[in-house]
Amino acid sequence: MSNRIFNFSAGPCTLPLPALEKAQAEFVDYQGTRMSLIEMSHRGEHYDKVHHDAMAAIRDVLSVPDSHDILFIQGGATLQFAMVPLNLLSDDKTAEFLNTGTWVKKAIADAEKLGPIRITWNGETDNFTRMPASDEYQVGDDAAYVHICGNETIGGIEYHEYPDTGAAPLVSDMSSHIMSRPVEWNKLALAFAGAQKNLGPAGMALVIIHKTLLKNCRDDLPAYLAYKTHAGKDSLYNTPPVFAIYMMKLTVDWVKEQGGLAKMEKRALARSGALYDTIDRSEGWYRCPVDAASRSRMNVCFRLPTEELEAKFIAEALEANFSGLKGHRSVGGCRASMYNAMPVEGAEQLAEFMVKFKQNNA
Ligand code: PMP
Repeated sequence: MSNRIFNFSAGPCTLPLPALEKAQAEFVDYQGTRMSLIEMSHRGEHYDKVHHDAMAAIRDVLSVPDSHDILFIQGGATLQFAMVPLNLLSDDKTAEFLNTGTWVKKAIADAEKLGPIRITWNGETDNFTRMPASDEYQVGDDAAYVHICGNETIGGIEYHEYPDTGAAPLVSDMSSHIMSRPVEWNKLALAFAGAQKNLGPAGMALVIIHKTLLKNCRDDLPAYLAYKTHAGKDSLYNTPPVFAIYMMKLTVDWVKEQGGLAKMEKRALARSGALYDTIDRSEGWYRCPVDAASRSRMNVCFRLPTEELEAKFIAEALEANFSGLKGHRSVGGCRASMYNAMPVEGAEQLAEFMVKFKQNNA
């Protein structure tokens, strides 16, 4: 099918066409069972294989070391804003945050209802236009963990290298850049990601947790909210989101076929580079509001000279086969979200469109 639109949505977002087509081909009659995967028992052999193959594929493609467990949990990334402090905080410990924008603020809002928190670094004064340098904050001795957002989807800023938090466990919200580059597992005690960007459709979060941290998690929580429950049952404690996990498996398989994380990173650099170069060469007509050193490879945010021109740009782009370019309603402007399944040509063609749009409207 060649008439697909270039979908620059922030998530849900474009997914690999081969994964969609495979799902379509086997949807109604799953591997000769005369029923679809979403109609059969999650305790049966067919789903069991999907489930464990999906876990193995994640471990393989993301190079998750044996020191870490892989969990599939419903509730999206948002539930993790509560589950992380519920599981890791205790009365004598503090949850620390490097506040880099909307998604860390949401995590702070949930954690402060559950225990002591500290905002160790605050990017609010800079309008969340950059990630902190390592000498700009000091993690306390009483830190239960340090929470970061690896890539701020709305602000368009990304850590190009993860902070080193020493003895304090580092927790990263990787929702919008997981599987787009190799992961620094040696620094990470817990990583979580809502699925609906690089992993597949919405319906779950992927949680990857160091076994030592897991051992120290609280035991006195309602069952579903405890990481130990999911780890102890291979994420089959209750009915899992079978379709989301199945699609994730197909998506991860596609990444492997394409050459894995190194290839994904190369493509992300090519896509985002095409747009940032266009912005930088426009003599200020297009303006990227974020610090050059923190520019996101997944979400390229930019402004035009006026809001009227931005509205015109988004409308004309849609006619030209580029959708989803409106910035988040909280910040306005334009945003091109380019996850793994966005072809490099999509970004290159958008860059050409931007050049022409400027010529016609400057
Ligand atoms: N964190 C980040 C960085 C996100 O981009 C999003 C969603 N856009 C979320 C968390 C929330 O994810 P969910 O909708 O899966 O709860």
